Amino acid sequence: MTAKIIDGKTIAQEVRAEWKVRADALKARGITPGLAVIIVGEDPASKVYVANKVKACAELGLHSEHVVMSADTPEATLLARIEALNNDPKIHGILVQLPVPKHINSDKVLNAISPDKDVDGFHPMNVGALATGNMRFAPCTPYGAMKLLEKAGVSIEGKHAVVVGRSNIVGKPMALMLLQQNATVTICTSRTVDLAKFTRDADILVVATGKARMITGDMIKPGAAVIDVGINRMDNGKLCGDVDFDSAKEVAGCITPVPGGVGPMTITMLVANTVQAAEWVAG
Ligand code: NDP
Repeated sequence: MTAKIIDGKTIAQEVRAEWKVRADALKARGITPGLAVIIVGEDPASKVYVANKVKACAELGLHSEHVVMSADTPEATLLARIEALNNDPKIHGILVQLPVPKHINSDKVLNAISPDKDVDGFHPMNVGALATGNMRFAPCTPYGAMKLLEKAGVSIEGKHAVVVGRSNIVGKPMALMLLQQNATVTICTSRTVDLAKFTRDADILVVATGKARMITGDMIKPGAAVIDVGINRMDNGKLCGDVDFDSAKEVAGCITPVPGGVGPMTITMLVANTVQAAEWVAG
């Protein structure tokens, strides 16, 4: 069997076009959705992510502000800047690019963002809303992974979904969103004994470990939907996922590639959350 490839680039374009219609409708009412992205320090990878986020906003005609702060910015200065953006009516979404320098408490920073502008979905109120089945802003990467499943026509209700990884930004929210859609969910971690026993039973397998190609074809149930969140850079400079694509695609029913799978969806859902935030403000 050769799996159907879930093309994240094409689906991301399709989803962006859907949200552009909604952004245009707001603009016709005189409201331009606005996103502020704050970066503290000079981390090269973070700079690329931030540039891509600002570019995606421009593509949809959104207002965006790119706030660059030096690596030695005091925590209080960053918190004051966030507070100013919380009170700025042009801004509907605020994102602080993580990681922040070590002298800044990232929990304090995430808690300082107004829950109504928390387009990354990391504020405890939004985490709680997701956990209690009243989702407001969903964290962008798992939200994008859910969109890929939807667009690929994968039915979730009653299926066994296995999520490998339990981070706050991917694994846990992914598991909650699958649960919300009535999957039977198992979460596996580095402490799971006999991981393959669980992955082989998954109708839907989501992998977010940061361990290159750790899930091989023999660990996958024939016909399963496989979502590979991992992004790992190999010695030759190329990217690969947490799933061994070549062996997995011979067993899975459908699978996301890396690059070109979940990656393009993350920024798309950030833009979607920003438009959504503006819609809520507009009533
Ligand atoms: P974290 O390092 O925060 O979490 C990794 C998780 O994987 C942990 O829960 C860990 O378990 C688990 N894990 C590690 N090794 C194993 C193993 N051998 N077996 C089972 N579980 C294991 O990573 P993130 O969630 O932040 O990211 C995961 C991957 O997704 C990375 O490759 C990252 O680059 C990528 N990513 C991609 C994004 C995108 O836009 N496409 C966005 C965000 C992340 P334990 O808790 O026990 O330590």
